[in-house]
Amino acid sequence: MFELLFLGTSASAPSVHRGLSAQLVMAKEYRFLIDCGEGTQRQILRSGIGFKRLNRILITHGHLDHILGLAGLLSTLVRWESLDELTIYGSRWALERVQDLIYRVVFRNERLPLPIHLVDLSEGVFFETDDFSVSAFPVTHRGAGCLGYIFQEKTRRPFLAEKAEALGVPFGPERARLVRGEPITLADGRVIQPDEVLGADVRGARYVHTGDIGRTEDILEYVRDAHALVTEATYLSADADLAQQFGHMTAAGAARLAAEARVQALILTHLSRRSRERDVLAEAQAIFPNTYVARDFDRFSIHKERGVTKLAPAEANGHAENSEAALEIDDSPLEL
Ligand SMILES: [Zn+2]
Ligand SMILES: [Zn+2]
Repeated sequence: MFELLFLGTSASAPSVHRGLSAQLVMAKEYRFLIDCGEGTQRQILRSGIGFKRLNRILITHGHLDHILGLAGLLSTLVRWESLDELTIYGSRWALERVQDLIYRVVFRNERLPLPIHLVDLSEGVFFETDDFSVSAFPVTHRGAGCLGYIFQEKTRRPFLAEKAEALGVPFGPERARLVRGEPITLADGRVIQPDEVLGADVRGARYVHTGDIGRTEDILEYVRDAHALVTEATYLSADADLAQQFGHMTAAGAARLAAEARVQALILTHLSRRSRERDVLAEAQAIFPNTYVARDFDRFSIHKERGVTKLAPAEANGHAENSEAALEIDDSPLEL
């Protein structure tokens, strides 16, 4: 299961109610921040989620509305003692801009208190655990090197406890071996094959985040059959010419992508201040009914069987796993 927390849902400039692009993805004990628009640090505080384990940042592309918040966030995070290192992933273009921001502005003459790794991505898997992988794919927007990201849980065969019971498989390491695909020999000499106690493959949850996009036909294969697609809807169809000019998507265009790719749920973000949320929703739902328009602090779970569920929004002092975290940060003035 993946959990999404939207920290900023506005395009290009913030509005009263919407911060700039940033989103947290939680998978098991891992956290990934996707993009870090200006003001993200404060959005994290307001969400109550804290800075703990916030050591992987994925950048979709180098536009300022997706990276400027790194300056403030990093100047705080490097003083956060429980963070050992920080990794920022992105295309070369995005990383060059991030590098300028970090080393020419934020930490200009300072020795870094913790290692910051910049990982130049090309297409493919760049992070993997036993349970899930994260991969990057190219998208067309403005500038060379715009990326989308795919979070993919691994396919699993469920352990059929009743069958194991009937065959007399004891609890403990024998069951773990069967789950790993190894046969076992019982005390009475019978050999049990994994196929006898494992069900058919169950596909893991798939979550696709496109970042800013100006075209959809070149990403159909990456998006196909996702449980959740998060993409942008900067414009409405009435402004389709502007969308095309600036390499962005309309709500209708995003909905057509969701329908063609047969995703289960569509979540729209990166809204222009020109658009009203209900117009964006109506335009998309006319084509793809299972559409949400994300607001700042909206949370969603993505489950391989239950699909997408909207959770109660994260709010200041709300679900605070680590709300006191901010207080533990050394607040001595920065002298940069
Ligand atoms: Zn943008
Ligand atoms: Zn952009």
